[in-house]
Amino acid sequence: MSEKRDYYEVLGVDRNADEAAIKKAYRQLAKKYHPDMNPGDENAKKKFEEATEAYAVLSDPQKRAKYDQFGMAAFDETAGGGSGFDYTNMDDINDMFGDIFGDLFGGAFRNRSRSSNGPVQGENLYSSVRISFMDAVKGCEKEVSIVQKTECPTCHGTGARPGTTPVVCPKCQGRGQIVYTQQSFFGTVQNVQTCPDCRGTGKIIREKCPDCYGTGYKSAKKIISVSIPAGIDNGQSIRLRGEGNPGKNGGARGDLLIEVSVSADPYFARQGMDLYCTEDISFAQAALGDDVKIHTVDGDMLYTVKAGTQPGTRVRLKGKGVPSVRNSASRGDQYVTLNVRVPTRMSAEAKELLRQFDENTGRTLGADIPQEKEPEEEKLKTEGSRPKKKKGFMDKLKENIKDSFEDKE
Ligand SMILES: [Zn+2]
Ligand SMILES: [Zn+2]
Repeated sequence: MSEKRDYYEVLGVDRNADEAAIKKAYRQLAKKYHPDMNPGDENAKKKFEEATEAYAVLSDPQKRAKYDQFGMAAFDETAGGGSGFDYTNMDDINDMFGDIFGDLFGGAFRNRSRSSNGPVQGENLYSSVRISFMDAVKGCEKEVSIVQKTECPTCHGTGARPGTTPVVCPKCQGRGQIVYTQQSFFGTVQNVQTCPDCRGTGKIIREKCPDCYGTGYKSAKKIISVSIPAGIDNGQSIRLRGEGNPGKNGGARGDLLIEVSVSADPYFARQGMDLYCTEDISFAQAALGDDVKIHTVDGDMLYTVKAGTQPGTRVRLKGKGVPSVRNSASRGDQYVTLNVRVPTRMSAEAKELLRQFDENTGRTLGADIPQEKEPEEEKLKTEGSRPKKKKGFMDKLKENIKDSFEDKE
C-alpha cells in the first residue's frame, strides 16, 4: 500500500499558499506530467494523477479546510476502493486544460460547453460590392443581393407542424446539455456536452413543419440597398446590423458585412485620404508660367504654374483629396506632379527657333563636345583624310551643328 503524499508537498506549495499560487503550481506540474505529453510513461501518469488530486482538494476552500483539519483521513474513509476520489472540481480543472492544452490538442479538453440554451445571436452574412473610384470618393447607393434566412411563416420559427408544439427534450430535460460521468485514468470525470438529441435547444420537434422541414427558417434572396459613405477605401467593409441570419432562442439577428472593392482610376492614385496625379505642362508653360487646367475630383480647376517651374515639381491642392469616411467635412489633399513635356515632333521652323533660343540662352547645343583645337600640323595631317570609322554619330552631329550656326559665327 502506498502512502499518499501530502497535497501541499505534491504541489510544492506552502501551507499558506493562496489560490493563485496553488493554481500556478498545479498548472506547471500538469504541463510537465500530462499523459499526452508523456505517452507510455507510467511514472508521469502517476505524478499527474497525484497533482490533479491535490489540486482538486486544495483549490476548493471547503475541502482544503477539511484537509487542513483532518489530513488524508478527511477523504480516505469515504473511498470505497481504487482512488475513488470525487472530482467535483473537475469543471475548473477542465477549464484549465482548455487554456493550457487547448491549442496543442485541438481543444480535446474543452469539453465543457457554455449553456447553449440561452439567446444566441444569429450568424453574420458576408457579401461584397465593387464600386468605381469616383463612387468611393463621392459616396453612393448600391444594391447587394444576399440569401438570408427568415423565420418560417408557417411555424413562426418553431419548426413544429402548425397545431403542434415542440416538447421538452427528454434526454436533457430541456437544459440542452448532458453531463457524462466517465472513468478516466485519474478517477471519475464529469463531462458536460451539448445534448445530441436537441442539439442544445432543449426542445424536440415531434412533427416537423412541412414548409421548413423543422428548421424554423426559410432561405430567401433579398436585395439590400447599401449606402456607401464618401471616402470608403478599397478593402473596407460596411456592417449592416441585424441583416444577418436570425438568432436562436430569442437572440438578435447577425450582421451583414459588405466588403467594398474600389476600382483603380487611370488618373488618380490614392493613399489614405490623399490623391496623387501627374499633369503635363509644356516647356513654355514651365518657363514662362501659366494658368493650367488640372483635373480634380470636383472637376477641372485652373492652377497657376509659376515661371521657372522645374520638371517633377510637386504642388499641393489643399482639401482636394478624399473625404474622411467618418467626417465628410475633413478632406485629404491632392498632390500634382508637374511633368514638363518635351516635344517629340517639331516643324523645321520650330526647330530653328529652338536653336535660336538655345543660342540666346547660353548655348547648350554642342557645348559639351570638345572643340577641335588640335595643333596646326596635326590638323593639316588629318584634314581630308580622316579615317572613316572614326566618323561616328557624334562627329556627324557636331558637323551639322557647326553648319547650322555657320552664319552666326
Ligand atoms: Zn416552418
Ligand atoms: Zn436535449
